[in-house]
Amino acid sequence: MAGLLFILSAPSGSGKSTLVGQLRSMVDRLSFSVSWTTRAPRGSEQDGREYHFSNRETFKRMLEADEFLEHAEVFGNHYGTTRSSLQEAADRDCDVLLDIDVQGATQVRQRMPEAISIFILPPNPQILEMRLRNRSRAEGGVSEETVLRRLAKAREEIENYREYRYIVINDVLDQAVEELIAIVHAERAWAHPDQPVDSETQRWISIAQPCLRTNVKERLRPVLASFGFPS
Ligand code: 5GP
Repeated sequence: MAGLLFILSAPSGSGKSTLVGQLRSMVDRLSFSVSWTTRAPRGSEQDGREYHFSNRETFKRMLEADEFLEHAEVFGNHYGTTRSSLQEAADRDCDVLLDIDVQGATQVRQRMPEAISIFILPPNPQILEMRLRNRSRAEGGVSEETVLRRLAKAREEIENYREYRYIVINDVLDQAVEELIAIVHAERAWAHPDQPVDSETQRWISIAQPCLRTNVKERLRPVLASFGFPS
């Protein structure tokens, strides 16, 4: 693959869809890889835009034909990234953005260690729960059991934050969007060390650097503590 590969993971309820939507609209030459899934469309989702919605038979056939770079089962539904979506982005001279869960991110990292991974964290469990309940209402009111299952899964996923190169805490939306944009611009600049860095790129780098997992410790500590995790 010619361009950069960005992996974005976040527990459900971390506000990822909004962030991804804004990132997609504000950064050029960044191709969002539309995953395949066996789950049914939600709300205003459109086939081919948020996901390629498929049945289990089609998904299984694609799996057997080795069409997926990675795949995972999440809440009983299957999700996968096709190898061809990366190739299509490379053909268009674009970098690629994958929105995948932690299992998928592990698989991609094993195959493509150069991938740039970003983990989005909700600021605390109260906001996570509020967002999950709002989403449940938007889905027509799912059961309390489903909300609790999503909360438990979110906590489980958060424990994997150490596997990621960057951590973005989605407390203030505009700031989180700016940090994601900065990470893309900074990584592009670092991928071409021979090219001069202009003042705008320097500004992006200064926003991205504090989000590196190795630099984010102070901001991360209260977030982890609120979830009861040691930092
Ligand atoms: P949702 O059904 O809420 O859109 O997504 C559920 C989870 O599946 C999210 O964590 C999302 O990142 C993940 N997901 C979406 N597409 C893929 C994919 O292609 N591969 C993997 N491994 N996870 C995916």
